[in-house]
Amino acid sequence: MLIGLKEILGLAEEKKFCIPAFNVYNLETVKGVMNAAEKLRSPVILQFYSRLVTSGFAEGVAPIVLDFAHRSPVPVAFHLDHGAGEKEIVRSLRLGMTGIMYDGSALPLEENKQSTGAAVRLAGYVNVGVEGELGHVGKAADGDETVKAEYTDPAEAEEFIRETGVSALAVMVGTAHGRYKQAPMLDIARIRAIKERTDTPLVLHGGSGVPDEQIRAAVEAGVRKMNFSTDLCYSFLDGCRSRDKSIVGIDLFMEGEHSPIEAVQSFAESKIKVLGAENRA
Ligand SMILES: [Zn+2]
Repeated sequence: MLIGLKEILGLAEEKKFCIPAFNVYNLETVKGVMNAAEKLRSPVILQFYSRLVTSGFAEGVAPIVLDFAHRSPVPVAFHLDHGAGEKEIVRSLRLGMTGIMYDGSALPLEENKQSTGAAVRLAGYVNVGVEGELGHVGKAADGDETVKAEYTDPAEAEEFIRETGVSALAVMVGTAHGRYKQAPMLDIARIRAIKERTDTPLVLHGGSGVPDEQIRAAVEAGVRKMNFSTDLCYSFLDGCRSRDKSIVGIDLFMEGEHSPIEAVQSFAESKIKVLGAENRA
């Protein structure tokens, strides 16, 4: 069933586990993730990049997400990832999304607070919760440029949550977007320090490539939503490439051994298990 961001994160907070959030962009990725969530009885977040919404692509794929969510026995939230502004937010709400991320993390603190607060009010008119970001999660391709100054400060996080009214907060504790050149080292103590100051669910971006033991430690410390985009995309592409060349037509994309759908499903299953989300639906 389709539920809201606030409700799905409430389940995670109550039972102390983490909701997997997968970036999907076509039928095969949606189907692969839903197969995994239903097989393992896990609540799940399906999310769209902001660019999918501004490009007009989302109009075609959103109905697919909603159809799967409505027909599913597991709780599903449909979320906008890295919303850039009002245009993306309003379009996403119209497309039926039940969660919105507004990313003002590249702005100075006061501007981030103000624009995030405005996003919370806007989505609040239709009772949709907003995920904000404080501290800036950069790109893995930038490598060691990730400076400590961009890490989330626990006291600022408490203030940010209180002043903006966000339903979830993405924090910078050492992850990055994209493929890591070397395994990241998460600042688990910082997650704990932020968690001690707030009941609001914390979010980690850049989950792809984070070693399992660090993922478990982050969940233990209080992370309630973790995003996986890069590796889900690669699992889909690997599934396409490794297909037997004699397979043609519709069978190329249908389910079955080594299909793109199965590749996505198997990736999603591995993350659901490490997040402790299995049998939580
Ligand atoms: Zn992100």
